[in-house]
Amino acid sequence: MLSLQSNLTEMKGVGPTLAKRLAKLGLIAVNDLVNHFPSRYEDFSHLVSINKLKVGERVTIKGKVQLINTRRSWKRRLTITEALIKDSTGSVKAVWFNQPYLTNTIKPGTEVMLAGILAAGSYGLQLEHPVIEPVARGGIHTGRLVPIYPSTSQLTQRLIRNLIARVLPQVQLIKEYLPTEILKKFNLPKLNRAVYDLHFPSSIEELTIARRRVTFDELLTIHLKSLLARQTLENNQATPIPFAESTKTLVKSLPWLLTNDQKIAAWEIIKDLGKQRPMYRLLQGDVGSGKTVVAGLACFNCIKTNLQAAILAPTEILAQQHWHTITNLLKPHKITCALLTRGQSATSDTASTTASRVKQRLKSGEIDLVIGTHALLQSDVDFKKLGLVVIDEQHRFGVEQRQAIIANRQSAPHLLSMTATPIPRSLALTLYGDLDISFIKTMPLGRQPITTKLIKPGERASAYNLIRQEINKGNRVFIICPLIEESDTLGVKAVTTEQARLQQEIFPGIKIGLLHGKLKGQEKTKVMADFKNGRSPILVSTSIVEVGVDVPEATIMVIEGAERFGLAQLHQFRGRVGRSERPSYCLLMTDSTTPRGLERLQAMTKFQSGFDLAEFDLDHRGPGDLLGEVQSGWLKLRFAELANTELLKTVREAGKLLMAMDNTLKHWPTLQAKVSQESFHPE
Ligand code: ADP
Ligand code: MG
Repeated sequence: MLSLQSNLTEMKGVGPTLAKRLAKLGLIAVNDLVNHFPSRYEDFSHLVSINKLKVGERVTIKGKVQLINTRRSWKRRLTITEALIKDSTGSVKAVWFNQPYLTNTIKPGTEVMLAGILAAGSYGLQLEHPVIEPVARGGIHTGRLVPIYPSTSQLTQRLIRNLIARVLPQVQLIKEYLPTEILKKFNLPKLNRAVYDLHFPSSIEELTIARRRVTFDELLTIHLKSLLARQTLENNQATPIPFAESTKTLVKSLPWLLTNDQKIAAWEIIKDLGKQRPMYRLLQGDVGSGKTVVAGLACFNCIKTNLQAAILAPTEILAQQHWHTITNLLKPHKITCALLTRGQSATSDTASTTASRVKQRLKSGEIDLVIGTHALLQSDVDFKKLGLVVIDEQHRFGVEQRQAIIANRQSAPHLLSMTATPIPRSLALTLYGDLDISFIKTMPLGRQPITTKLIKPGERASAYNLIRQEINKGNRVFIICPLIEESDTLGVKAVTTEQARLQQEIFPGIKIGLLHGKLKGQEKTKVMADFKNGRSPILVSTSIVEVGVDVPEATIMVIEGAERFGLAQLHQFRGRVGRSERPSYCLLMTDSTTPRGLERLQAMTKFQSGFDLAEFDLDHRGPGDLLGEVQSGWLKLRFAELANTELLKTVREAGKLLMAMDNTLKHWPTLQAKVSQESFHPE
C-alpha cells in the first residue's frame, strides 16, 4: 500500500512523462497530492431530470446513451461528437468539439452522468461540452461539488481529480498534530477528515467545517510564529535613539504639511526609538497616504545618533523610488545614502560606485543610510552599527528574512515595517501578534478623490475619449490586463496583444509602453522612465505595477477584466493614480453580469479607503467565496482571507492557551515544526 511518502511514480499509470508534469506543480509524493487543494469548486450537485432542464442552469443529469457518433466538420479542422442521452422523462442532445475519442470510451447503452449548462444554440437546445462520466465510476467529475485544482496546460482537471480520488484513502494516514483539548474546545474536526472534505465535500456545510479547520491551522501557525518571535525579541537590547531637534527643521523644509496621522505615527515611532528595547512596529497606511516621509524621519533620527539605517524594499523599482525620494529629503543634511540592489548600486556622494564598494563603506560606517532589495539580506552585507531597519511592503518578506537582518548583532536594531495592505484590526492582531501597529488613515490634504466608474462593454468609446483628453492635458494612463490563459503565467501574451490592439486601432498617434515580468531590470527601468517623462504616456502592464510606483502625472487607471481581480488588487491599482492635485479616474472595464461580481466592483465605486474595502470584504462573505469564485487577495494567504471575526478571535484564544501550556511548543513536535517552517507569505 502507498504511504504518504511514496513517490507518485509508484502509482499505476504514473510514468516518467506524467511524473514530470506533476513535478512542475510541486507534486512528487503522495503527500503533495493530498495537500494539493482545490482553488475552487463547480457546483454540479444539482441533479435534475431531463424534462426539467432549463437554459443557463448549471446541472447534472443521469441517463443512458442512446446514440453517440463523431463527424468531421468541413468548414474548419474540427470534429464534432454528438450524443443523445435519455432518462425516464425525456432526452437531450450533447455536443463536444475535438474530442473524437469519446466515441471510443462511451458506448451506446452506457449509463452516464453529464454535468454542464443547457444552451439554446442555433441547432436547438443542447448541452455544450458537458463533463461526462459513466455512472459505474461516477461521482468524481459530476453530480457533486466538483473540485477544480490549480493546474498547468499539460494536466487536465480530470486527470488530477482522478489521481487525487485514488490517493484519498491515504488521507487516513495524516497524523493529527493539534492537542485534543484544542479540537474539543474550539469545535474543530480532525485534520484528516477536513482534508478529505476539502477535496470531495458532500455539501457546502461539510466544506464550511473543513475550511474552518484548515483556516484555523493556517492562522494559528502564523500567530504562534509571531508570538514566539515577540518572545525572543523582548529579550533583546537596543541602542536608544533620542529625538533629534533638527527633525523640526527637516519637517519645516517639506513642501507640504504633515497630516495629523503622519504626525501621530512619526511620534509613536520616535517614542519607541528612544527605548532600550528594540522597536517592533508596523506602519499601516493606504497607498499614497505618505508612509515614506515618516520612515525618512525615523531614519533621520537614527543617523543623527551616529547609527546607520537601512530601508528594504521588495522590488528594484520601489528601491529606486525610495532612493530618489529619500536622498532628496536628506540632501541638505550631509547624509551619505546608498542604493544597493541586484542590478544597481549608487551613492549620493560619488558619481559612480560598485556593489562591493558600497558593502565596504557600509562596513566602515561611511554610509549612513542604505536603500535596497533582497540584496541587502545577503550574508556579506555588514554594517558598522545598524540602528534602524525599515521594511517596506513587509508582507513580501518572511518572518525569517525580517529577523535575519536584525539577528546576530550585539545591539538589535529597531524595526519599522510598512504595509499598504489595509488589514482589519482583528486580522492584524492575529497575524502580527508580534508587532505594535500605527495607522495612517487620512490622505494628504488637497488630494482629490479618485472617480471610480464601472465601464460595461458598450461604453468603451467614452472611456477611450476620456483617455485622449487626459493625454492631451499632458497626463498619463495606466492600463492593466489580467491573465488571459492559465498557461500565460506572466501575462506576457495578454499585455502584448492588448498593447498592439490599442496602438493600431485606438490610439495610433500615441506611443504606448509595455511592462511585464519577463523584462529585465534595465528594460523595466527604461519603460518606466519613458512613461514618467511622457515619451509614452500610456502604459499597458500586467499586475506588476501593483506595488509602489509613483507617477504623479498618472490620472487614469484602466483595469481590463476587473472582475478577475480581488478587491485588494483593484484597490492597489487604483492607488497608482490620484497622487497629485489633478482629478483622476479609475475605470473598471468589465463584462461581468453576476450580481455578486457587480456588487464587489460597486464597492470600489463606493469606498475610497482600503480599510473600508477590507472590512467590506470581511463582512460580505457569500457561499460563492467558499466555492472560490472570488479571490479577495488582501494577503495572498491560502485560506485565511476567508476567516471571519469569530475565527480570528478563536485563533488568538488558542494561541494564548498553547503558549500558557508550553511556550516552547516542544510538547507538540509536529506543530512546533510547522510553526518554525512557516514563512508568512514570501513571494
Ligand atoms: P505610500 O504611503 O503609498 O508609500 P508615499 O509615501 O509614496 O505613499 O506618498 C505618496 C505621495 O504623497 C508622494 O508623492 C509624497 O511626496 C506625497 N505626500 C506625502 N505626505 C504628504 C503630505 N502630508 N501632504 C502632501 N503630499 C504628501
Ligand atoms: Mg510606499
